[in-house]
Amino acid sequence: MSFTLAIVGRPNVGKSTLFNRLVGKKLALVDDQPGVTRDLREGEARLGDLRFIAIDSAGLEDVADDSLQGRMRRLTERAVEMADICLFVIDARAGVTPTDQVFAEILRKKNAHVILAANKAEGRAADAGVIEAYALGLGEPLRLSAEHGEGMDELYHMLRPLAEEFAARAAVDAPEVDVDVSDDEADEGPRKPTREKPLQIAVIGRPNAGKSTLINKIIGEERLLTGPEAGITRDAISVSADFMGTPMRIFDTAGMRKKAKVTEKLEKLSVADGLRAVRFAEVVVVLLDVGIPFEQQDLRIADFAETEGRAVVLAANKWDLEEDKTEKLKELREAFERLLPQLKGAPLVTVSAKTGKGLDRLHNAILKAYDVWNRRITTAKLNQWLGAMTEAHPPPAPGGRRIKLRYMTQVKTRPPAFVVMCYHADQLPDSYSRYLVNGLRADFDMPGTPVRLTFRDQG
Ligand code: GDP
Ligand code: GDP
Repeated sequence: MSFTLAIVGRPNVGKSTLFNRLVGKKLALVDDQPGVTRDLREGEARLGDLRFIAIDSAGLEDVADDSLQGRMRRLTERAVEMADICLFVIDARAGVTPTDQVFAEILRKKNAHVILAANKAEGRAADAGVIEAYALGLGEPLRLSAEHGEGMDELYHMLRPLAEEFAARAAVDAPEVDVDVSDDEADEGPRKPTREKPLQIAVIGRPNAGKSTLINKIIGEERLLTGPEAGITRDAISVSADFMGTPMRIFDTAGMRKKAKVTEKLEKLSVADGLRAVRFAEVVVVLLDVGIPFEQQDLRIADFAETEGRAVVLAANKWDLEEDKTEKLKELREAFERLLPQLKGAPLVTVSAKTGKGLDRLHNAILKAYDVWNRRITTAKLNQWLGAMTEAHPPPAPGGRRIKLRYMTQVKTRPPAFVVMCYHADQLPDSYSRYLVNGLRADFDMPGTPVRLTFRDQG
């Protein structure tokens, strides 16, 4: 099984109907009376060529009294903990209810990987509910009709890349996974091992930039150089570390090879390997050799990290070798601005992997970048801001028809992504989009993180 999907949401939104469709057997009861199914159920699901475990968290009577609220919360939290991905279902015909909002809050707190599904979306009657669902701030709602099987294709396309990612991660994590399925727990189904979630970082850079030296310094031992030969299998390899009190999982490839065995051929793989490590990372540390910074390879890797939507920190290494540090720093900043405008505002720190100087700066920059990458801005604040921005500088009026930006919401974090609902979106010039993106960065203190802004046409 490649991953576990929990189907969560308030009673009667269609969770069991969806579960039945995915699992293909009448494992879960479906009934018009809310709360017919009573606990977590799971089954082997298939969707196209995907195979996974689906958990149905249906089964709660109406949440009128406190004990049921609590029970609902516990059940959902348990489902979330067991799952890699949560499919959060709302009833598009009913629109977003306060109970839906309670669920959204739980999922957000749990930092779960959420796909938002607006069910019962067959026909126009659901349109308003689908739009409303954006306001939950959990991403673009997937239009679904569990009963009629609509939207299953889209669900497949959303799950597919995640499934690949989880499969790859499982392979990387394998040695540490504690598969404890003792008899008395077997009834509860697959348990995820209890493991704190370390911050995932990748250290990338050209050969000899000092990646191995840096990682060794961070983990404080010689584990890397004698570690597995990642370059041979071409899989990203990770090590766990406690970096100044922050649990981290560090992905690297080329730098983890036995130095003696690095042949010309393997060195050439390092860019591809680096790019692969980026895909696993939340924060990417681009390590520059201060003697030869911003070479083609560095630029390419940094650009790739941005395109992939990772938070980026630039670290200029071998700082101990610099004589005129003030002058050099000025040079670095200028080159950074000129060569990597797409990473405007990303932190640039100087370090010496060899002496360990500056590692505290690097640690802080990583935490800050991670924080910005996860930032969530309320819809109310965004719309207030959008009003001020369009008033200060109204969008153009091609052919006399003003482009109207109606409404804005954050649909995703990691990295922050926003959708603006508008009329005549196709006529909005890029410069206006840049105006808004730069404004978002400045006004909501989001320097250096990739910010995605899309415009959705409403007619
Ligand atoms: P659960 O409590 O969330 O598990 O919801 P159920 O799966 O039991 O469904 C509740 C009710 O909604 C049932 O009467 C279903 O037939 C109905 N339902 C489920 N999916 C859809 C759908 O896509 N469209 C419509 N119109 N009704 C649906
Ligand atoms: P990698 O190929 O990126 O993993 O680079 P290494 O960690 O193997 O480092 C390449 C060379 O640079 C080695 O000779 C290191 O000793 C040296 N080096 C790494 N970091 C520093 C540093 O901060 N200062 C100095 N002076 N040399 C360093």
